[in-house]
Amino acid sequence: MDAVNKVEIITKTSSSQLVKPNLSDYRRTKREFSWDQMQSELSGLPEGRGLNIAHEAVDRHAFGKNEHRIAIKWLGRTGKTRDYTYKQLKTKTNQFANILETLEVKPVERVFTLTGRIPELYIAALGSWKHKNIFCPLFSTFSPEPILQRMSKGNAKVLLTTSNLYQRKISRIKNQLPQLKHILLTDATDHLGKGLWSLQKLMKEASDEYDIPPTHPEDHAILHFTSGTTGKPKGALHVHSAILNLYMTGKYVLDFHPGDIYWCTANPGWVAGTSYGIIAPLSHGITSIIDEAGFDAQRWYHILESNKVNVWYTTPTAIRSLMRVKSTPKETFDLSHLRLVHSVGEPLNPEAIRWGQSHFGLPIHDNWWQTETGGIMIANFPSTKIKPGSMGLPAPGIEAAIFQKDDHHKPMKINTPGTYGELAIKAAWPSMFRGYIHDEARYRKCFSDNWYMTGDLAMQDEEGYFWFLGRGDEIIKTSGHLVGPFEVESALMEHPVVAEAAVIGKPDPMTGQLVKAFVALKQDKEPSEALRLEILGFGRKKLGTVIAPKEIAFLDDLPKTKSGKIMRRLLKARELGLPEGDISTLEF
Ligand code: ATP
Ligand code: MG
Repeated sequence: MDAVNKVEIITKTSSSQLVKPNLSDYRRTKREFSWDQMQSELSGLPEGRGLNIAHEAVDRHAFGKNEHRIAIKWLGRTGKTRDYTYKQLKTKTNQFANILETLEVKPVERVFTLTGRIPELYIAALGSWKHKNIFCPLFSTFSPEPILQRMSKGNAKVLLTTSNLYQRKISRIKNQLPQLKHILLTDATDHLGKGLWSLQKLMKEASDEYDIPPTHPEDHAILHFTSGTTGKPKGALHVHSAILNLYMTGKYVLDFHPGDIYWCTANPGWVAGTSYGIIAPLSHGITSIIDEAGFDAQRWYHILESNKVNVWYTTPTAIRSLMRVKSTPKETFDLSHLRLVHSVGEPLNPEAIRWGQSHFGLPIHDNWWQTETGGIMIANFPSTKIKPGSMGLPAPGIEAAIFQKDDHHKPMKINTPGTYGELAIKAAWPSMFRGYIHDEARYRKCFSDNWYMTGDLAMQDEEGYFWFLGRGDEIIKTSGHLVGPFEVESALMEHPVVAEAAVIGKPDPMTGQLVKAFVALKQDKEPSEALRLEILGFGRKKLGTVIAPKEIAFLDDLPKTKSGKIMRRLLKARELGLPEGDISTLEF
C-alpha cells in the first residue's frame, strides 16, 4: 500500500513526554507480560471470592488514599455539575445493588438502560455488576422498534430510563415485553404502580451496605450490541474477567497515572463508552469526566481546559468534526494539561494526526478494537513511534496476525510482512466475547484453530505495525486491484476543503467496480462543478488513475452510526437503489 511508504514517522523522545509512560520499552513489556501479573495488580474480592468488575472499579478505591478522590465528575447539559467521590460511588452502587435484591431480580438477569449520559446510568451499571446482573446499555436516541428488538432479544428484566423516554418510547412497546418486570424511572418522585418505580425513592429506602457475592471471572457481566455498521447489530456477551484487559490497556495504552483527569467522549450505548467510559478509568482510581451534552467544538475545548484533562479518548469522527470548524485550540485555550489524545472506532486518517500535532501540539494515538474484543487490541503507545495511518502494535498479552484462505478455504497464518489478509487475534484473551446471543453458530464461525477472525482486512509491516485496509465487505475490486476505502478517503481529506469522505465500489461494466466518493466540505465551503472537478483531479494526482475516484458526489453530512462510524453500506444501497437494510443505529 502506498501510504506505508509515504508516511512521515512521528518519533517520541523522553524529553517530549511530560510523564514517564507506564510502558517505556514495548518489546520488553510484551515479552515479560503475564495476565497473572495483571491479576495481582487488581485486588480480587475479599477472601478469594473471585473477580468482580465493580469491586475493582469502585470498592477497592473507596477507602485510603482514593476515598475522597472524585471518581466521576458529571457535567450536565445545562451547566449543572455533580461530583461523586469513590466513597460516594460505593454507597450509591451498593444502594442500587440492594434495590435489585429487594425487587427479587436474580443474578444473571439483564438490566437494560435507556438514558442519556446521566449519573444514574453509571450507578446502574456498577450496581448491576455488584449484584451479578448482566448490564446492557442502549442509546436513548433509539426509536421504539430497535429498543423493542434489543430488549426482547436480550431478555430484559429491568429497565432504567427517564419519565420522558418512558412516555415517548417504552409505554407503547411495553406490552410486547412480557419478561420486563421492573422499570426504574430516574426522575419520578413516587412509585407509579405496575412495576413502575421511582428510582429516587427506592434509593432512599435502600441500605448502603452491600457485600458483593462470590463472582467467577467467567460470569457474564455485559451484553453489548455491535454498531450495526455492516448489517444487523449482533449482541456480544462479555464476562467479569474483561476487567483484566481494561485495566491492562488503561495502564499501558491510555497510560493512566494516579491523579489523572480523563475524558472519554463515547456514549455507553457503544462498547467504548462502557469499557473505557466506565470501567477502565475507575479500575485505576482516577477521575473520569462524563459530559451529558453532545458534540460542540467550543464546549469540548472548554471542558478540556477547565477540567485540566490529562488523557482524552475520542473518535475519528469527533476529530474530523473539530477539524471541520475553524478553530485554534492551542492559542485560544490553555490545554497545557493535556498529555495524551487517543482515538478509536474507525481508521484515523493521517491528516487528522497531523492536525492534532498542529492544533494540540500532540499526535493523536489511534487504536483498534471491536465490540467482540471488549477492549483495545492494537494500539499506538505513548512511548512507541507513530506511523500515521497505522493502527499500531498489538497490546501486551495480545497476539495478532494476518490470515489468508488456502485452496480449501481454510484460513492460514501469513508470515510475510506486507501481505494483506484478514486480521485475527489469538484466542482467548480475558475481554474476548463469549458468545453472540441466540447465535451460537455465528459465534463458532468467528474462530479458526483458536484464532478469532475479525472480519477486517489489514497488513503487518516489517516492524510489526498493523495497517487497516478496510472491512472485508467494503473492499473495492477495480480493474483487478483491491482498494480499501480508507486509503482513498485519507487522500481526499488532504484536500484543504474536504472535511470527510466515504468511498464505495459501484458496479461498472469496464472495471468491475468503479470508485465513487461522497464528500462533505468544511465550514463555509459550497459544492460546485468546478470544485468537483478539482477534487477529482486532486485524487488522481494523489492516488493514480486506477485507484482515484471516478465519481464524486457532495453531501452535507455522511450517514453515520450512533457510535460515529460512516455507513458506507447505506451510501451504496442508496446509490444502487437497493433496500437500506437495518438502519436502527443510523444517527440522522
Ligand atoms: P457491526 O459489526 O454491527 O457491523 P461495527 O463493526 O462497526 O458494527 P464495532 O464493534 O463498534 O461495530 O466496531 C468495530 C469495528 O470498527 C472494527 O471491526 C473496525 O472495522 C472498526 N474500527 C475500530 N477501530 C478502528 C481503527 N482504529 N482503525 C480502523 N478500523 C477501526
Ligand atoms: Mg463488527
